[in-house]
Amino acid sequence: MTAQLEKTYQQLCDASREATMIGRIQHLLEWDEHTKMPQAGAAYRADQMAFLAGLVHQKQTAPEIGEWLDELVDSEFTADPKSDIGANVYHLKRDYEKQTKLPQDLVEQLTRACAVGQQVWIEARKADDFEQFRPKLEEIVRLKREQAAALGYEATPYDPLLDEYEPGETTVNVARVLSELRDALVPLVQAIADSSQRPDVSILARKYSIDVQEAFGEQVAEQIGFDFGAGRLDVTAHPFCTGLGPGDVRITTRYDEHAFSDAFFSILHEVGHGLYDQGLPREHYGLPIGEDVSLGIHESQSRLWENQVGRSHAFWEHFYGAAQQAFPDALGDVAVSTFYGAINDVRPSLIRVEADEVTYNLHILIRFELEQALIEDRLQVADLPGAWNEKYERFLGITPPNDAEGVLQDVHWSAGLFGYFPTYALGNLYAAQFFDQAKEDLPILEADIRRGDFSALLSWLRANIHQHGRRYTPAELVERVTSSPLQHDALMSHLNEKYGEIYGL
Ligand code: ZN
Repeated sequence: MTAQLEKTYQQLCDASREATMIGRIQHLLEWDEHTKMPQAGAAYRADQMAFLAGLVHQKQTAPEIGEWLDELVDSEFTADPKSDIGANVYHLKRDYEKQTKLPQDLVEQLTRACAVGQQVWIEARKADDFEQFRPKLEEIVRLKREQAAALGYEATPYDPLLDEYEPGETTVNVARVLSELRDALVPLVQAIADSSQRPDVSILARKYSIDVQEAFGEQVAEQIGFDFGAGRLDVTAHPFCTGLGPGDVRITTRYDEHAFSDAFFSILHEVGHGLYDQGLPREHYGLPIGEDVSLGIHESQSRLWENQVGRSHAFWEHFYGAAQQAFPDALGDVAVSTFYGAINDVRPSLIRVEADEVTYNLHILIRFELEQALIEDRLQVADLPGAWNEKYERFLGITPPNDAEGVLQDVHWSAGLFGYFPTYALGNLYAAQFFDQAKEDLPILEADIRRGDFSALLSWLRANIHQHGRRYTPAELVERVTSSPLQHDALMSHLNEKYGEIYGL
């Protein structure tokens, strides 16, 4: 590398690290807002957040970044797009172009519309009144279409929105895989609903003291590999995971004395996210190859630990004794097979966030199909509640009794998050594909889990997924790790096998 190019590259990296640093300060403020901040601090906190958002935008769109990128892009140092330099420059250029394509007034209109949108949505949901939310949602959909137009697309305006969360993925590919998944899932859900075998879920609603839930959850998280020397677990209304810096990953959960599995599986889920963040290459922190690939891949890590590992029989063969000791009154008289059935209860329900491993994907499919139709102008916002209810009836066999439990249940659309929903289902698909490959590469994996030894699996995830950061696109990563593109077969065989056994299908 010539001295001049070397200097330019260093300047570009410094700018990227600075933008990341401000972003992580935002994360810290957000974490504090959700865990510790007194209510009266909200207004000034909003000002602080807006100030930092402006600062990040300024840093990311500075004209000199464009000049540095131009200098580097066609040089021999970036010829290999998978080398450290090549991958960093590729992503920084892609991000820079996206940022600078959006007119400032559109960015501001969207920020305002979504801030107000979320307030209006909260009120509309409380009042069970979609009409109250409709005009705001119409405005947000219109602005998202403008955003898509500004970013540019070939096939559908949904593409650039999806690309925000799942870089390089296309609507047509996701639609194909998810419709194949839907066609295979609907009959399975029906067969489970028709089965005469029903797990006894009442045991999970017995009394589980919160202190003990917390201690038990932390013990399991640590045994799985979450580094509490480089992370924390706190309490919030809505569980999340956030990275504040190398060596500082925060996860949260919420506890209910009469719902053991809610907090426990949300801890496993967030630990999965946290392990990914803890496994990203530290030496590249603040640069693209030190960051996570996509929301879908991030979700695959949380789902793999939550479902493939945490809801498996092998896992509870190891931990059930400890669970019985921790909760003698609730679980002392319960056999492990009864407990295993209860944590794998499947039933069509109205609310996405409470859905089980099988029906969850149908909730996502419904939202994906509807939001794609809204963005492509094939569906009007006014017709959304009817279309929502029709799909719930068709795919899950139930109709919401009101809009609060139907179309108004999720925050996403009010916050302008179009293209986000499918990443939840992609996470489930990737998780199944990755876990199949891990089983093939690690023949003793199930025996390891039965012994409570998760080190080989974690090392496998670190080596195959975490350490690459953003070097590969999600599609490339899946292909590299599993020798197969994104597909629905791995998830369906996992579900068919597991639930066929539990429900005697
Ligand atoms: Zn998640």
